[in-house]
Amino acid sequence: MSRSTYSSFAGLTDPGTSRSHNEDSFAAKPPLFAVADGLGGHKAGEIASTVAIEHLLEAAPEAPHADALRRAVEGANAAVIDAAADGRGRPGMGTTLTAAVVVGSRVVIAHVGDSRAYLLSGGELERVTRDHSLVADLVRKGEISEEEARIHPQRAVITRALGSRAEVAADTYEFDAMPGDRLLLCSDGLHGMLLDDEIERILAEAQDAAAAVRELVRAANDAGGLDNITAVVTEIGPARQVAPAVSRKSRSWLSAVAWVLAAVALATAAWFGLLSYARAQAYVIAEDGRIAVYRGLSGSFAGLTMSWLEQRTEVEVDKLPVVLVERLEDGVATDGLDAAFELVAEYRALASDDSTPAAAP
Ligand code: MN
Repeated sequence: MSRSTYSSFAGLTDPGTSRSHNEDSFAAKPPLFAVADGLGGHKAGEIASTVAIEHLLEAAPEAPHADALRRAVEGANAAVIDAAADGRGRPGMGTTLTAAVVVGSRVVIAHVGDSRAYLLSGGELERVTRDHSLVADLVRKGEISEEEARIHPQRAVITRALGSRAEVAADTYEFDAMPGDRLLLCSDGLHGMLLDDEIERILAEAQDAAAAVRELVRAANDAGGLDNITAVVTEIGPARQVAPAVSRKSRSWLSAVAWVLAAVALATAAWFGLLSYARAQAYVIAEDGRIAVYRGLSGSFAGLTMSWLEQRTEVEVDKLPVVLVERLEDGVATDGLDAAFELVAEYRALASDDSTPAAAP
């Protein structure tokens, strides 16, 4: 394939195997890239996603300014509401919208709903956006797993969309990507059909952006194609070039160092994240027959303990009801020190309460 036909960006949408029409819309007009997944049925969803994309094409910034892009997405919300009121479409129609402005290596994204942005960087796929959906909330709360979310009966329920209310909050993301990275925007008809691992493999192996969107849509159809499928891919510039062997060598040595530094930074960040979380927590525990208050987390994690003694109190454990004593043997976690001391105050009152039947004459 000659360099001149290499495509650095492409978009493709497909109704899938079981829907009669396509309610997804997209834009792939550098620097703007966007995917919208319409809701509302009877062609209203199609109108909602079209109106949102049309508005973006007019209102999106030329420069990678997250705030300006967010305002454009909020403007698209108003455009969808107006279109419903004007009789173009129907009341209650709505759409997701995931929009990116990419200039050089700078990427800004504004996002509402459950369409997604992914970044393939160094061969690894990262999910950039967080879905505004019921199942995503349940996964974040730890109530269901990613695997369970994929087959959850309410997986299509989204918690934020354009068109439903006058005020909509778009999430924004901004970062510098690396030349050669690939940004993917897609509707749930793609990410609902394919595991992230499969998306990663296809995106990494594709010759160029056009091949990537073609292969992604084909794979989603092969996997069932139960919903409309849309993929927009853009490669982060500048155009790839073959570096001389010497510089390639030094680059790979440098990149090995960069990887080690990144791994150390990540581990450090994770450690400090856990540490600062632990410091904000507290617990109350029985120790040598009396209640003690600790800052931190009771127990140990991977052999490490994260607790700091705050105070040993005079409150005697065996003056407390048996059920409390048992809980206190393992420690009672509280949301911070204040809550721990409030709990101690309650226990102190219980322990000194001589009006209980047991203490009565
Ligand atoms: Mn969809």
